[in-house]
Amino acid sequence: MDFPQERPFVIAGPCSAESRSQVLEAAAAVKAAGVRYFRAGLWKPRTHPGGFEGLGAEGLPLLADVRRLYGLSVCTEVASAAHVKACLDAGVDMVWIGARTSGNPFLVQEIADTLSGADIPVLVKNPISPDAGLWAGAIERLRLSGVSKVGAVLRGCPVPGGEKYRNQPYWSLSIELRTRFQDIPILADPSHMAGDRAYVRELSQRALDLGLDGLMIESHPEPEKALSDASQQLSPQQLRDLLEGLSLPAATSADGDYLQAIDRLRARIDLIDENLLALLRERSDASIAIGRYKKEHGVSILQPGRWETVLGNMLERADALGLSRELIKEVMNAIHADSVRLQER
Ligand code: PEP
Ligand code: MN
Repeated sequence: MDFPQERPFVIAGPCSAESRSQVLEAAAAVKAAGVRYFRAGLWKPRTHPGGFEGLGAEGLPLLADVRRLYGLSVCTEVASAAHVKACLDAGVDMVWIGARTSGNPFLVQEIADTLSGADIPVLVKNPISPDAGLWAGAIERLRLSGVSKVGAVLRGCPVPGGEKYRNQPYWSLSIELRTRFQDIPILADPSHMAGDRAYVRELSQRALDLGLDGLMIESHPEPEKALSDASQQLSPQQLRDLLEGLSLPAATSADGDYLQAIDRLRARIDLIDENLLALLRERSDASIAIGRYKKEHGVSILQPGRWETVLGNMLERADALGLSRELIKEVMNAIHADSVRLQER
């Protein structure tokens, strides 16, 4: 198969294939929701040992049944050459590389080598660490091995201490990926971002608003009884409601007023960005001057107390200005890291 042109491109199904009846019920629900691509994990990467680790290759005939009985295209996660071989032999339509694998160039390479020439689409989830380069590298590796149908899935990354979601979405990673690869489908996985079914809708809509191409959603006939990721899977009814309620923004509008207004707003943004650059130049000069001064006086570059105070003050100001703490933390950490680098020269 090829990646579909339809938008949104939706893949749905349970976190794990658990039994024949569970897989077939899940597939019936996916089909009833109007979805044409079915997911089910067979080899499950679990955080702790002792959890349900999937049916493995024994689940492959169940996926074949889903294709035969419901006409759905089927996909599953692969993490090794052996998984890929088994999937190709079983006629699986599409595979994805999970977050614990996509950041490992050795594994990605062996998967790429095994997929080479097979012509099935592959989706690459973002690695556990928010590193757009590592994510892009996995995609490049597949393409260089002759895997031509490669797409991506943003599933977010865990943050220390945890926040509202199981994984912070890191939408910016998908934007960085889009600038590197204009032509690949980029989906979101709101289920693994959320960790809780209550947040799947808001994350799904956000993904579409940001222009992502589709969604991979976990759905189980009886989510509370699921053997993995029970709290984030949607029931069949919830899956239907979610998909009915999503709205797809138009890529653009031909309306004259819209085009004029958007040009003005973009000019304003361009000007603000220019000013930001000028300020960053000024800040870098100040950092270099501080670095020299510290060196002259034999003082160490890193002054942790000082940095904590700066960041604390900035976060307080961010609150007062109604800016997101997450954004300011990310921006200030990047600026600080660069400042340390400049002072080391
Ligand atoms: C999954 O899709 O079930 C899964 C394990 O995903 P991730 O690799 O994003 O954690
Ligand atoms: Mn899962």
